Amino acid sequence: MKLRVKCYRNGMRLRMILMLFNVGFLVGCAGTFKYYDANLPHHGKTGFLNNYDNSPKPSVLKWYWQRWTTSFPEDDPAGAPTIPVDLQALQNPEGLMLTWLGHSAMLVQMDGMNVLTDPALSDRVSPVSFAGPKRYGKLPLQIEQLPALDVVIISHGHYDHLDLPSLKKIYDQNGGRTQFLVPLGNKVLLESEGIKNVREFDWWQGTQVGALNFTFTPAQHWTARSLFDRNLTLWGGWMVKGSHQVFFAGDTGYSKDFQDIYQRLGAVDVALIPIGAYSPRWFMQLQHIDAGEAVQIHKDLHAKLSLPVHWGTFKLSDEPMNEPPEKLREALQKANLPLSVFPVMKRGETRIVK
Ligand code: ZN
Ligand code: ZN
Repeated sequence: MKLRVKCYRNGMRLRMILMLFNVGFLVGCAGTFKYYDANLPHHGKTGFLNNYDNSPKPSVLKWYWQRWTTSFPEDDPAGAPTIPVDLQALQNPEGLMLTWLGHSAMLVQMDGMNVLTDPALSDRVSPVSFAGPKRYGKLPLQIEQLPALDVVIISHGHYDHLDLPSLKKIYDQNGGRTQFLVPLGNKVLLESEGIKNVREFDWWQGTQVGALNFTFTPAQHWTARSLFDRNLTLWGGWMVKGSHQVFFAGDTGYSKDFQDIYQRLGAVDVALIPIGAYSPRWFMQLQHIDAGEAVQIHKDLHAKLSLPVHWGTFKLSDEPMNEPPEKLREALQKANLPLSVFPVMKRGETRIVK
């Protein structure tokens, strides 16, 4: 197998930028946090906190060094297998329809409403155009080909989830009618780009839009978009309730949050759960689940069906790009669950749930 040293693949410039970012994280956050609230444990003095584990993040410099000095197998540049989207089906949805557009972007069509999760549909997800994670494979459709979107839900501010160029195109695509539901602290960012109809939410807050009810839920993660904004905006997932209950986990490590979500909001018909960006575990465990934990979340939520997201599109971690589905199959077998409860989708594929 052809090997290559990863630091050359990603480029020195990106590495320098990321290191500067982390220096920035250390020196940022001076003064009292705008959302600090002694009555809300996740509203800390210097930023938002997780409910269950706020251990210090492992050394990112150690991880960079490890990557720098390790050879990795070459990834297939196609990433996740891709098929063309059935555009006609999207215009005439039946039942609950879910179409995976790659990474964490899932088009959810339910009760006459079109909802899109974390549309990072650009070729690169990064603060700069010349570096940062680049798309593997092609987008299965263009934004202009999407049905008119009623709601976009955003899980958190990381660039592979909150992609401003995609959001601006979507805003124009539906003539400014799309509602954007974002975690606390992100509204100002979207509005600064001319996007209107933005509402922001704390954990367990929500709203009704048309036939659907949306609730923002906790997750075990963090966020930052610049040198000085670590955890100054919130992160989480979304429960979408209509004729079916659909849960979108966003990015998360494993925590008791998912048992809490089941206790408060009930069983899930379809859960969209991340399965990629888990390696190395010593670094990623606090922020990204692995396949075994994804299966545990499926169980915690009492989900009838789970669909994997957050894999095969942007390289964010050390595991091979197309390894997550294999690990998911192994984890399902280990848990004595049929593969059909957590089936791997192709990018562009549509699933219909009656
Ligand atoms: Zn993230
Ligand atoms: Zn992510």
